[in-house]
Amino acid sequence: MTRIYLDWAATATARPEVVETMLPLLAGSYNPSSMHADGRAARAVLDAAREEVAAVLGAAPREIVFTGSGTEADALAILGSARANAARGRHLVTTAIEHLAVLRAAAVLEDEGWAVSRVGVSADGVVDPGAVAAAFRPETALVSVMLANNELGTIQPVAAVAAAARARGIPLHVDAVQAAGYLPLDVERLGPDLLALSAHKLGGPKGVGALYVRRGTPLAPLLAGGPQEHGLRAGTENVAGIAGFARALALAERERPATAARVAELRERFERAVLRAVPDAVILGHNVSRLPHICALAIPDVPRDAVLIALDLEGVSASAGSACAAGSLEPSHVVAALRLGARFVRGVVRFSLGRTTTADEVDRAAAVLGPVVARMRTTDLTV
Ligand code: PLP
Repeated sequence: MTRIYLDWAATATARPEVVETMLPLLAGSYNPSSMHADGRAARAVLDAAREEVAAVLGAAPREIVFTGSGTEADALAILGSARANAARGRHLVTTAIEHLAVLRAAAVLEDEGWAVSRVGVSADGVVDPGAVAAAFRPETALVSVMLANNELGTIQPVAAVAAAARARGIPLHVDAVQAAGYLPLDVERLGPDLLALSAHKLGGPKGVGALYVRRGTPLAPLLAGGPQEHGLRAGTENVAGIAGFARALALAERERPATAARVAELRERFERAVLRAVPDAVILGHNVSRLPHICALAIPDVPRDAVLIALDLEGVSASAGSACAAGSLEPSHVVAALRLGARFVRGVVRFSLGRTTTADEVDRAAAVLGPVVARMRTTDLTV
């Protein structure tokens, strides 16, 4: 039986079109900073990729900085703008449900003497823009709110936060890593000053990301070195990876309405089947707008990791939602922020669908889950 991959929010494999774009460049691209014809050819590839990414965001190519991951894009946004902007004040506002790429960067700032406000979320996993605005202080130098959460899929009110931040002249960073491919990324409509993307969630290669930097936004580089990427990210560019990223993003954007509709329908089918199989399970964030591909299921009275291992043995790849939660009995920081009842908090499993997920796969996964949970409940798992 072929395995069923329902962990697309962790990563997608590279699309065939992306591999086709990258292969010749892996075999034979040169340094885009070189003056000679070989270097100029690599520069042309890089320029075209930058234009393609900028076009999806409605940005200028000059506003795109390629990085080595989504994590690096978040770090550059937070630490880079803090370093460039400290004269304004040393206070960061963010949310309790950001990815660790943001929360750990915030913790670095705290170690350096900054104050950080982590605004909580509703039981459905959405931050209140009014609560974000209420956390602003005269010395707030940056606000960081994700476009959609990677564990729950819940969509955050970024445009409202952007309006509040703009009214106070505070720059806004948006982690759009998980939303990309499913939500519009038009930076004029969304209103961020900084926005992070990662290629591998979109069917691009792992180890490539980008940061949108609105013209005029103060930002200091994190790495000392050459003048690449407008002086904001030193290091010879990953030409093949960046070209693959641009291809993946452009394809995802073109296919977005059709993919989003198809995946949403499959998720609904999956959730209906899962709730029939495990009627006391709860779908987190089901009352609010969610990304179409994520289903975070809280199963009462079962330990998450035992369910994940049993699913894995049955050929289903699902996840705890974040790498750091795996292997620990504690809920992730995102699940903890929802303040679920004690019976649910340790039983949250994330299923995430993707571009090639089929109805047969979701049916088979749901059919496996019922007996797995039933078995857990009749086995003494206490140690
Ligand atoms: N931000 C969010 C919301 C994510 O889901 C991820 C990936 O897990 C990242 C940032 C980090 O991206 P990368 O894996 O490219 O470092």
